[in-house]
Amino acid sequence: MAISFQFSRLSLPTELESRFTLLSRCQKPFSVRCHNEPSSGSSSSIESDFDAKTFRHNLTRSKNYNRRGFGHKEETLELMNSEYTSDVIKKLKENGNEYTWGNVTVKLAESYGFCWGVERAVQIAYEARKQFPDEKIWITNEIIHNPTVNKRLEEMDVKEIPVGDGKKHFDVVSKGDVVILPAFGAAVDEMLELSERSVQIVDTTCPWVSKVWNTVEKHKKGEYTSIIHGKYSHEETIATASFAGKYIIVKNMDEAMYVCDYILGGELNGSSSTTEALMEKFKFAVSQGFDPDKDLIKLGIANQTTMLKGETEEIGRLIERTMMRKYGVENVNDHFISFNTICDATQARCNV
Ligand code: SF4
Repeated sequence: MAISFQFSRLSLPTELESRFTLLSRCQKPFSVRCHNEPSSGSSSSIESDFDAKTFRHNLTRSKNYNRRGFGHKEETLELMNSEYTSDVIKKLKENGNEYTWGNVTVKLAESYGFCWGVERAVQIAYEARKQFPDEKIWITNEIIHNPTVNKRLEEMDVKEIPVGDGKKHFDVVSKGDVVILPAFGAAVDEMLELSERSVQIVDTTCPWVSKVWNTVEKHKKGEYTSIIHGKYSHEETIATASFAGKYIIVKNMDEAMYVCDYILGGELNGSSSTTEALMEKFKFAVSQGFDPDKDLIKLGIANQTTMLKGETEEIGRLIERTMMRKYGVENVNDHFISFNTICDATQARCNV
């Protein structure tokens, strides 16, 4: 899911420097729940043989589900443009993408503003408010990690599902309410919970995120373990993991090296040691019942879309090389699969 930056309305030039710094950084993820940690998710429990793919397929075809908006696209986009295009941006554009205020010169980045996935998500949320003016509207998490947008939705009386004692409290949601799923999606147990409550679901999940879910479902079908490049407590990765079969989440190249070193019995760089040590290191980042000696034989790569594309690709190549070394070049296809699920928009916006 994208980190997106859009200039909110600023008073010039007073707030310029500090707000510019704030808005120009990738925002840190908001942690809600991670597998194997004490549950902080919904109350629905998912059996290990639950068919998440079929459930999602059926849910997306049910009458209480919408992911395409409600026919108010033009007017909601217009409203968003008026709310999120600041005087700073206008000024920069009028002056060849560069302007000097006092001793500060600001240049407009080549890629700026919302990526299409974020724009789509926010716009569908605006449409939901217009379509359901009197209904209670909830959202399962921040729609994107952008305080200006989240505050605006709050003002539109779109409420976040409350979190207490490390759990989301879905009992506030009643039949007939509307519940928005944010741009980075929601875990399958949350979808199940909402479906059981007969609410109207407005799903703004970015199609690139759904594409990653399709990928881990393919891994599952082929009995491959998904290596997910992401952060185990990030809501997008929580959602992706909920659609995977066996999985292990690595947050960077060092962790990927550790796993590959384990696969090669310490012959890569000697960073790994025993099975127990691996399980301790990844105790919050593996699927239930994960067994490194059985579950690291067939691997597929997937990613959290906010991770840098270059690093995911590097991790993919490392795993491929590891499997070639372990099982022979001629057998690599039986031990490694990769699909292109990497969205370029994050790279363009967060490559700092
Ligand atoms: S996956 Fe790509 S298009 Fe979708 S929200 Fe993230 S950055 Fe934007």
